[in-house]
Amino acid sequence: MTNQPLPQATILGYPRIGANRELKRALESYWAGKSDQAALETAAQEVRQQTRDRLAELGLTAPSAQIADFTYYDQMLEVSAALGVVPPRFQDLLAEDGSLDLDAYFTLARGKGDLAAQEMTKWFDSNYHYLVPEIDENTKIDYVGKNLANQVREAVAAGVTPRPVVVGPVTYLLLAKASDDAKEGFSPLDRLGDVLHAYGHLLMDLQAAGAQWVQLDEPALASDTWEVDGYAIAQAVKEAYSWLGAIVERPQILVAGTYGSIEEYLPILAPTFIEGVALDLVAGEVPAAEALAELGGKTVVAGVVSGRNIWRTNLDVAAEKLAQVKAALPENTPLVVATSTSLQHVPHNVERETALDEQLRSWLAFADQKVGEVQVLARLLAEGEDAVQAELELDRRLREERANHPGVKRAEVRERVAQVSDADRTRTPYEEREPVASAKLGLPPLPTTTIGSFPQTKEIRAARAAHRAGKLSDADYQQAMKDEIAHVVKLQEELGLDVLVHGEAERNDMVQYFAELLEGFSATQHGWVQSYGSRCTRPSILWGDITRPAPMTTEWSAYAASLTDKPMKGMLTGPVTIMAWSFVRDDEEKGQVADQLGLALRDEIADLEEAGINVVQVDEPAIRELLPLRAADRPAYLKWSVDSFRLATGGASDETQIHTHLCYSEFNVVVDAIDHLDADVTSIEASRSRMDILPAVAEHGFGRQLGPGIYDIHSPRIPSVEEQTTLLQAAVDALGAKALWVNPDCGLKTRGYAEVEPALANMVAAAKAVRETL
Ligand code: GLN
Ligand code: ZN
Repeated sequence: MTNQPLPQATILGYPRIGANRELKRALESYWAGKSDQAALETAAQEVRQQTRDRLAELGLTAPSAQIADFTYYDQMLEVSAALGVVPPRFQDLLAEDGSLDLDAYFTLARGKGDLAAQEMTKWFDSNYHYLVPEIDENTKIDYVGKNLANQVREAVAAGVTPRPVVVGPVTYLLLAKASDDAKEGFSPLDRLGDVLHAYGHLLMDLQAAGAQWVQLDEPALASDTWEVDGYAIAQAVKEAYSWLGAIVERPQILVAGTYGSIEEYLPILAPTFIEGVALDLVAGEVPAAEALAELGGKTVVAGVVSGRNIWRTNLDVAAEKLAQVKAALPENTPLVVATSTSLQHVPHNVERETALDEQLRSWLAFADQKVGEVQVLARLLAEGEDAVQAELELDRRLREERANHPGVKRAEVRERVAQVSDADRTRTPYEEREPVASAKLGLPPLPTTTIGSFPQTKEIRAARAAHRAGKLSDADYQQAMKDEIAHVVKLQEELGLDVLVHGEAERNDMVQYFAELLEGFSATQHGWVQSYGSRCTRPSILWGDITRPAPMTTEWSAYAASLTDKPMKGMLTGPVTIMAWSFVRDDEEKGQVADQLGLALRDEIADLEEAGINVVQVDEPAIRELLPLRAADRPAYLKWSVDSFRLATGGASDETQIHTHLCYSEFNVVVDAIDHLDADVTSIEASRSRMDILPAVAEHGFGRQLGPGIYDIHSPRIPSVEEQTTLLQAAVDALGAKALWVNPDCGLKTRGYAEVEPALANMVAAAKAVRETL
C-alpha cells in the first residue's frame, strides 16, 4: 500500500452518460441491433477519455483527484456484476467462471423474453434509479467481474491515476432484497462475510491495477429507516471496515457517507484501519467536535459543494463549515474539499446554456463549475481568504443580485401564501360532499377509468418536434393535438369506459408541461441527467416565485368534454411531484415553494370547474421519493407536502370529485395518502403486487374510494379478462365493491395502441363481469 495523500480538492463522482449523451446513443443503438459490441465499447472508452480530459482541463490532475466511476447502466448493477450476484432465474446466463458478459449484464438490467429484469427503484431521495440485487442463502458471491480494475488500468495507461468508486458493502446489502427462493427470515445482510471476501479480492485487484485510493460509498448510513435494526447495521459497519482495513495489499480506503449525516457511525469507523472518511456537509450537519476529534490519523473529506443541486455554492457558508471541521480535527489531519455526493445528479456545463437568461445563468453551477468551486475552497483552506478574494466577492455580489431580482420574491405571491388559512386546505367533510358529487356523476358501481395519458405515438412526437422547430404552425399543432384528443375520446366511448380523459397528447412530460406554462421556471437546453440506464431527464429550473399567467389545461379538457356526454376528468400534476422532478431553488423553504404551486393549481381547478369539468385528478407519484432519509424528519415533510396538495384541491366545490394517483402500493405511503390528502379517489399500482396490500388497507380502514390498478401497464403483455377479473374480485373481496374503482396501474403513454385497446377492452369486460355478481 502506498501512502500517497489525497489531493486537497476532489469530487466524489461525475456524470457518466457523456457531455452530449454519447453513451445513451451508443447503448440504444446497440440494443436496437444497429451496432455491434465493439462499437459500444469504443463509444464507452471515448466517454471515459472525454471525462479524463475534461477533468484535467478543469484542474483535477493530481493522482486520485479524478475518479473511475463509469458504468454501462448502473452503479449497483456494477457491484452485482463484480460479485457475480444474479437472481436464481438468471443462473444460465453466467459464464463458466461465474462472470456476466455484456449481454447477460444488460439482461439483468432490462429483462429478455420471459426473464423479468431485476426490480428498479429510486436511489435514496434522488430521481436516479438503481437495480435491486436479489440474494438468498445460496447465491454464489465471488470476485468475478473485472470492469472496475480494467477502468483503472485504462486510465493509468492514459496517464491518470484515478480513484475508483464502488458502492460500499453495507449499502449494497441493505439495498438488496431477499430473492424469491430465500428462506423465511433471511436478510441479505446475512451474507456480509461472503461479500467482504469478494470486496477484499476486488480491492487487491484495484491495487494491482495501480489505484492508490478507492472510494466506498455508504449512503445507506445516512438513513435510519431500514428494516434491519440499527444495532445490526452498526455491527456490519464495524465488521466490514475492520475486515477490509486489515487487508495489506489494497489501495487506501475512503468511506464516503453521502446523502446525509453519518455522524453516529464515526466512532465505529474511527478505530478501523481505513484511511479516509468523506462527509456530506450539505445534506448533513457538521458533526459534533468530539466525533470529528476521533478521526485523527485519517483523511477527512468535507463535502461542502452540493452534488444534488445546480446552484452556485455559497462560498462563505462553505468556508465556515470548513473552518468548523478544521478546528475540531486534531492537528495535521489532512482535510480535503469535495462535492457532497457524486455529480451524477447534475448536468455537465452551464456555459452551454446560451438560451438561458444571462442573469439566471450566472447563479448556476453544473458539474464543471462545481469542480471549479471545490478548487477555490481548497485554495481558501490552504492559503486563506485573501488568496480567493476575487472569487468570494463575485459570489457575494451574485447572491445579492439573486436575492434582489424581482422574479425571485414577488410581493403579491408572498402575500397570498401568507393569507392561506386552514380553511383553504379543508373541504366539506367527505361524508357530506360525497353524495353531492356522486349524484352529479351518476356512475355505475365499479366505475372504470384510466390514469390520464394515452399512447404518445410517433405522430404526436413528430408533430411536437416539428412545432418546436418552427415547421408546424401553432394553429396546425393545436389542430393535430385536437384530432388526437378526439380520437382518444371516441376510443374510450367505444370501449365503454365511464370516466373519460383527454389523453395528455399535448404534454411532453407531466412536469415540464406545467413548468413551461408557469412563471418562476426556466428550461435548459443541455441540462440532461441520468435517470437510469440510458434514460435521461432534463429537469426545469424552479428559480423564482410562482404565478400562473393563464389557464394551463382548460382548453384541452373543455374541448375533450365537448365531444362526449360522459364525465371528463381534468388532469394536473401535484406540487410535490413538480418539485421532485425539477431543480428547486435553494433559497426558500420547501413549504413556501409547495404552497405557491398549490395556489397555482388551485386556480387551475377553479378554471376547470368553470369549464364544466367535475372530476379532477392531481397526480402525486413522487410523494414517496422526497421522503426524508431520517425518520425524525418525516413528520415535517409530510406536513408541508400534504398541506400543499390540500391547498391545491381545497377550493374544489362539493360537486367536484378529486382524484389522485400514486405509482406504487407501499402500505404506509398509501394509507398516509388516503388519510391525509383527502382526495375522494386514490388510484395505485397493485397488479404487479397482486393486490397484496388491500387486506391491510381494509383493516386500517379507508374512508375514501380506491382504484387499485388491475392492468399492469409496465409490460407489453395484454392481461386477459379472466386475469383482470380475478384481481378485481380479489379487490372486491378485500374492500367491498362500494368504494372501488377499476383502472390500470399507471398512465398509458409508454405503450402502443395494439396493446392498450385490447387490454382496456378486457378491463371493461372484467368490470362488467364482476358487477353482474354484486
Ligand atoms: N397522469 C399521468 C399519466 O397518465 C400519471 C403518470 C404517473 O403517474 N407517472 O401519464
Ligand atoms: Zn403512475
